Amino acid sequence: MTKVISVAIPKGGVGKSTTAVNLAASFAIAEKKTLLIDFDATGSSTICFGFDKKDIIGNIFDVLSFKIAIGEVICKTDLSNLDLIPSKIQSTDEERLHKITNNFLLFSHILHEEQFTIYDYIIIDCPPYLQGLTTISLISSDSVILPVKAGKFSLTSISKMIEYIGWIKSRYNSRLTIEGILLTMYEPNTTVWKKTSNKINENYSDLVFDTVIPRNTTLCESEFFGKPAVLINCNSSGAKAYLKFAREILSKEKINKHEPIVLNVAYSIGLSH
Ligand code: ADP
Ligand code: MG
Repeated sequence: MTKVISVAIPKGGVGKSTTAVNLAASFAIAEKKTLLIDFDATGSSTICFGFDKKDIIGNIFDVLSFKIAIGEVICKTDLSNLDLIPSKIQSTDEERLHKITNNFLLFSHILHEEQFTIYDYIIIDCPPYLQGLTTISLISSDSVILPVKAGKFSLTSISKMIEYIGWIKSRYNSRLTIEGILLTMYEPNTTVWKKTSNKINENYSDLVFDTVIPRNTTLCESEFFGKPAVLINCNSSGAKAYLKFAREILSKEKINKHEPIVLNVAYSIGLSH
């Protein structure tokens, strides 16, 4: 069964796109057929896979406005198990989308079409606010990952997000769960991280992932190289952390109870033949 995971929190610059890109790449390396959908107008995930706006035929907004079929906007990436629906969303598109309230449920119906059953995971990179495309994404998801970086504002955004998830659950999607809170750009020896992680553990200890993502330059390089960190340097601390994170999610679900989790970078990029 396909699992749909939103990466969402109402705050920018906390590592949502970095998490969506590198988790999707790590799932693909673990031989899980994965689709990454870029739902943010900034197109950060799209850029991290080296797509140029002029090469994109359409995006999720075109699908929701019935201009193009979803199958036509799915693109291949350098990883054989990973496909991408890139973003070319204009800010005016989003305004129109807010008005088309029926589309809240349309996307969920689309994701349940036969063609999506080939995917083990669909990961949605959400914009840094709660309305519009984030709402559509949460209505269509099984779970949400909340990436947070150090700082007091992060704590406020976690509580806002949890409250919003409760509202979506009660109104539109009762199956939605919190996959967990992921600490990103982690620097354990800084005062700001000590204060932030103490507060997070005090209030949400059962929701925090064991894996933390360290601050690491390879993760920043994705946007320049147009590749996920694991294809730039699979030995970097950032790439290794996201591989470990994928493994944590996979183990939690006991999908691989009777088989080892394969994390074979060479196989995934076709170097093993
Ligand atoms: P968001 O999608 O929440 O706005 P991004 O994933 O775009 O955040 O990350 C914001 C910036 O921080 C980007 O320039 C990205 O490369 C950088 N970044 C994200 N995670 C890390 C990390 N673990 N270490 C170093 N830089 C990071
Ligand atoms: Mg982003």
